[in-house]
Amino acid sequence: MRLITALLSLFYPRICPMCEEYIGEGQVPGTLCKTCLAQLPRTEQAETPENLTEMTLTGSDSVMVRDTGQNMVRTKKVMHLERAAAFLFFDKEDPIRDLVHVLKYADRPEIGYQLGRQAAMEFQYADFFDGIDVIVPLPLHPKRLRERGYNQSEYIARGISDVTGIPVDTTHVERIKNTPKQALQKGAERKANVQNAFAVNHPEQMYRKHILVVDDLITTGETMRSCLKAMRRFRGAKFSVFALCKAR
Ligand SMILES: [Zn+2]
Repeated sequence: MRLITALLSLFYPRICPMCEEYIGEGQVPGTLCKTCLAQLPRTEQAETPENLTEMTLTGSDSVMVRDTGQNMVRTKKVMHLERAAAFLFFDKEDPIRDLVHVLKYADRPEIGYQLGRQAAMEFQYADFFDGIDVIVPLPLHPKRLRERGYNQSEYIARGISDVTGIPVDTTHVERIKNTPKQALQKGAERKANVQNAFAVNHPEQMYRKHILVVDDLITTGETMRSCLKAMRRFRGAKFSVFALCKAR
């Protein structure tokens, strides 16, 4: 670890990416200082069932069906999740926005690892990881992965794994459709773009597992829902979701 820290300090100054203050020698270069880490806008969702993240994923997927009187009625098509929570709230005006941007696009995956670790240490107290067999980071399309060099969700997942001891799996789910950047799209367009974007491999190996799916940011939840839909081929599996951030 010491060698890695020494190498990192060649590339990254010991400066916190949020407040730009100097961070101590005991910390991995390029990570958040202790003050910023303590001040991040936590959601407290780990101990709150039916929180905003869970409701975004399970509650809004309504469909039109014919009732017994042949009238069209809107009904909830409920996707069941064991648990779902985000660690932080994401607001457009907040410094967290820049942090997520840096994590995704500025070649700073170690921030994801640090925040995954921090979230896991706090969520453990709410028994959030109880019974989970495997952690699956939301995959990037291979083309996007090549451009970016890393999957930020995988770094978050590895941080969680480091604290909880739950293994990370990156082989059973893949992204088969390279979708445009979501920020540029409207709701319906976004939904169409992520449909059938994911595929699974060797579903029999995930039989009856409790899987924690990890993403960096949940906005409308369309991408996560599309991924969970593909994962229905894992027979008898149960699903929970962890997001680093939930947009409000
Ligand atoms: Zn700081």
